[in-house]
Amino acid sequence: MKKGKLFVISGSSGVGKGTMVSAILERNPEIKLSISTTTRPPRPNEENGVNYFFITKEEFQEQIKNENFFEWAEFADNFYGTSKKFLEDSINQGQSIILEIDVQGAFQVKEKCKEAILIFILPPSMEELKNRLTNRKTETSDIINKRMSLAEKEFAQKDKFDYQIINNELEKAIIELENIINLERGIKC
Ligand code: 5GP
Repeated sequence: MKKGKLFVISGSSGVGKGTMVSAILERNPEIKLSISTTTRPPRPNEENGVNYFFITKEEFQEQIKNENFFEWAEFADNFYGTSKKFLEDSINQGQSIILEIDVQGAFQVKEKCKEAILIFILPPSMEELKNRLTNRKTETSDIINKRMSLAEKEFAQKDKFDYQIINNELEKAIIELENIINLERGIKC
């Protein structure tokens, strides 16, 4: 049976990877997004089971103990994890999937699955990243500062990714991402 491809998309908070991934999913409905589990409280526009499965830290620890996660990481004082069952079922059914996860998670996935394709999304500059994070008004300035310092650390790891895309102009970045995904899936465009 045809095996699905596993795409891992990482990049600093606020870099626009969520918007890029949404566009890819809309244009390629056969690709599925893995919905992560997190202990972060939902933002006003977020829904349980759509953006994330929102659970408590105690519940998250329980899921770690039960080995429910393919990978998990702590990011800016919260935990995030990818469901092992969803990932394995999808891949075995020949389904291509996208994981939108942090750099620590991306490397855990590569370690366990060498065929995973790692894509890093970069901002045009760190200054622009800070503007985007500030303008989206979903985080306090404390959290923005924490996320900016994590962004610097993530940025330093970018060369370990299979592909890098600079999100300067959104539409161009989406096309670049789609071209990589099509190339890896063996689809000519
Ligand atoms: P946010 O709180 O902005 O939604 O996500 C914070 C960071 O956690 C982002 O870099 C996001 O990609 C990452 N993230 C989301 N889900 C997962 C996951 O399941 N595992 C890991 N390792 N990181 C995740």
